[in-house]
Amino acid sequence: MKSQHPVGYLYDPLFLSHTLPGHPENHERLEAVMRRLREYGELEHLIELTFAPADETQLCAVHVDAYVELVKQVSARGRAMLGPDTYIHPATFRAASAAAGAAMAAVRAVLGGQVDRAFALVRPPGHHAFPDHGEGFCLFNNIACAAQYALGEVPGEGRPARPLERVMIVDWDVHHGNGTQAMFYEDPRVLFVSIHQFPLYPMSGHVNELGAGPGRGYTVNVPLPPRIGDAGYARVLEEIVVPLARRFRPELMLMSAGYDGHWIDPLAGMALSLTGFGRIVATLSQLSEDLCAGRLVGVLEGGYDHDVLSYGVLNTFRLLRGESVASLLDPIGPFAGREASVEPIIRQVRAAHALSSSQT
Ligand SMILES: [Zn+2]
Repeated sequence: MKSQHPVGYLYDPLFLSHTLPGHPENHERLEAVMRRLREYGELEHLIELTFAPADETQLCAVHVDAYVELVKQVSARGRAMLGPDTYIHPATFRAASAAAGAAMAAVRAVLGGQVDRAFALVRPPGHHAFPDHGEGFCLFNNIACAAQYALGEVPGEGRPARPLERVMIVDWDVHHGNGTQAMFYEDPRVLFVSIHQFPLYPMSGHVNELGAGPGRGYTVNVPLPPRIGDAGYARVLEEIVVPLARRFRPELMLMSAGYDGHWIDPLAGMALSLTGFGRIVATLSQLSEDLCAGRLVGVLEGGYDHDVLSYGVLNTFRLLRGESVASLLDPIGPFAGREASVEPIIRQVRAAHALSSSQT
């Protein structure tokens, strides 16, 4: 089938060098992804996009100087723990700078018309990285770099010819995107929507975290109880994400793509299937068609079962290229238990963000 959309991917073996044996966020995750993409010949349908690592001035568009310097210095000294679950390896500074650079290059390629969509296959992940510290396996906030790049806030060559005014980030990793939220909490140019399990690390992302100052109303949290599956997520998309996007009218959509909401993921308790992830991507894909000429960029976050992660990414690329949900691979199958009810949270979020029933 001929692709309806030219789709780019960004990858570098450097992303494998940041690793810690026995840690769930290790190099084998991305190895499994690349192996699966090759197994199914997916890379032949995609355009490989080149990129340079983010330099220190670019990283400082989202992080404070002292933190960037800290990661650089600690990494230069060898292995260390930045917190209880966030490790640094001698290759970490280079890998994390490259991950941020890849996320920015993905946006550059889409805004420049080289491709319609792109997906940055990066490690370490980024959505738990704050301006002044990293946590939750994350060092530099890749998707925040991507958004700031689109807004024209990242210095250096290759800035967008026309910076954007409205960027939407949908974070469907099972954990709250606390770092990304912090980056844009007072910024009305970025509509940040996080759909996550609660209670679960990092224990933030309540409905009443709405943004502040001029950014009030532009942070949207959907904290779901455990065991929400395909049907529940589909309702969250249709009843919250779609109407919010139509109201905001983004010029670019970004997704923090985490595959840890799957029912067999070892770190969480949700009930999504591979088909359910596919439906999320298909909905966002359609929204981007309707609202911003199909401009959609994914950045890899979590996902700790390697089969889920690798099939999930493969399915995501197929959908980004314009294939139908019917073409998705789901060898693991659906959750066999009973899904929890999503109704109370949907009602709370819709009320907090003034989504009346007529706006769906
Ligand atoms: Zn996660």
